[in-house]
Amino acid sequence: MQRHRQTKWDETTSEGHEPLLSEKDSTRHEPEDTYLPDDLTRDGIELPSLSEPELVRHYTRLSQMNYGIDDGPYPLGSCTMKYNPKFTEDIAGSTAAAIHPDRDPELSQGALQVYHELQDYLSRIGGMDAVTLQPPAGAAGELTGILIAKAYHEHNGEGDEREEILVPASAHGTNFASAAMAGYDIVELPADDDGRVDLDALTEAVGETTAALMLTNPNTLGLFERDIEEIADIVHDAGGLLYYDGANLNALLGRARPGDMGFDVMHFNVHKTFATPHGGGGPGAGPIGVREGLEQFLPTPQVRTDGDEYTLVEPDESIGKVHGSMGNWLVLLKAHAYISRLGDDGLTDTSAKAVLNANYLAERIDLEVPFEPFHHEFVASAGETDAADFAKAMLDNGVHPPTTKWPEIVDEALMTEPTEAESKRSLEQLAAAFNAVSDEDADTIADAPQTTAAKRIDQTTAARDPTLSWQQLSE
Ligand SMILES: *Cc1c(COP(=O)(O)O)cnc(C)c1O
Repeated sequence: MQRHRQTKWDETTSEGHEPLLSEKDSTRHEPEDTYLPDDLTRDGIELPSLSEPELVRHYTRLSQMNYGIDDGPYPLGSCTMKYNPKFTEDIAGSTAAAIHPDRDPELSQGALQVYHELQDYLSRIGGMDAVTLQPPAGAAGELTGILIAKAYHEHNGEGDEREEILVPASAHGTNFASAAMAGYDIVELPADDDGRVDLDALTEAVGETTAALMLTNPNTLGLFERDIEEIADIVHDAGGLLYYDGANLNALLGRARPGDMGFDVMHFNVHKTFATPHGGGGPGAGPIGVREGLEQFLPTPQVRTDGDEYTLVEPDESIGKVHGSMGNWLVLLKAHAYISRLGDDGLTDTSAKAVLNANYLAERIDLEVPFEPFHHEFVASAGETDAADFAKAMLDNGVHPPTTKWPEIVDEALMTEPTEAESKRSLEQLAAAFNAVSDEDADTIADAPQTTAAKRIDQTTAARDPTLSWQQLSE
């Protein structure tokens, strides 16, 4: 089996780590003559003085101590780590794309055209009537969408009564968080024995206090909610709205549309479905679509055109702004480039291959997959092994592990999504890594990873108390 190994420093020496640039060199630089007043300048500054090769080697080594989508397969279920084609980077990196957000609309007609076309593409893909590109992530799209649902109920004079949002137990954590941030009480819906929405529980939970139901389809087990039309009727008959979490849109692209299933509001995770990079917490985009009757609540501004000129308009009852400018321009530009390059046939091909790849991979691995038939992702069980240990052992077998321990409905869950971007060869490589870990003894798995640059890091501290700069570290 092919195994890629990360670069490592020799830990047997006292300097067994990649030095910080400031550890390599620290030189005091005196200020040069400047026209700035004295009270605005410093006396000098400590900075590393390094040659270009030293600098390039430092960052190259750091990249080799990591694992990314450019190193190998990355089957992180639900997060959809698909390969980001380099042509979209070229477009985003071109000088023509460098525009200032405050530039006058008259002088930014090209950018506004891109925005407008992307609004149209997404409307068509989602079966929605209007789209805003503003929210900077899927989670921000959720919050925006729920605020629009709230504005809708307030507009109908029902803002005070409708104080609950229904969320399936298997939903992504951001669904619960977004509903709570918008001021709603959350009602958790259990799954039925097949892993889908339990219709009896839904009928019982829904009523005059329901503002909306949030749902992803296929759900986080990769299962299509077959009763979606009935679910939509139940929610609509009670006066609630249906919200679509678009994280799993990869399974449906070009084949089925949330709008046609009865969803009223949805978000798109462009970094999951349309191959713009995951921000790693940085700039992303989570546009939302709404059906007719909700567009007056969209964030301001919206791009419109009369056919000749593109203009910015404020929707009548806009919930306001949710992000500066129109959203993250370069991320959206990449999504536009990706969609226009693939076209209708390419997008439809994407979902076919995403589903085929997931099913092929599941066939090739020795683990149990309790819920079927799945689409673009499946949730395998690590069985007696702790899923987090299993994941670490996959790193020793040269690939990135799947998402672990979620959804909780599967014991020791390994939520796996190879995406359409992987070839049959890469899928075999992934399957070999899964199966190698399945065959390993418990001690080896518990001691993994042995080959990576970093061993088991303290994830809670890393998330809650991050040390992100040299200054922080030295303090
Ligand atoms: C990723 C994800 C989200 C949140 O999207 P972000 O863009 O990461 O904020 C919401 N729901 C599901 C199911 C997801 O997988």
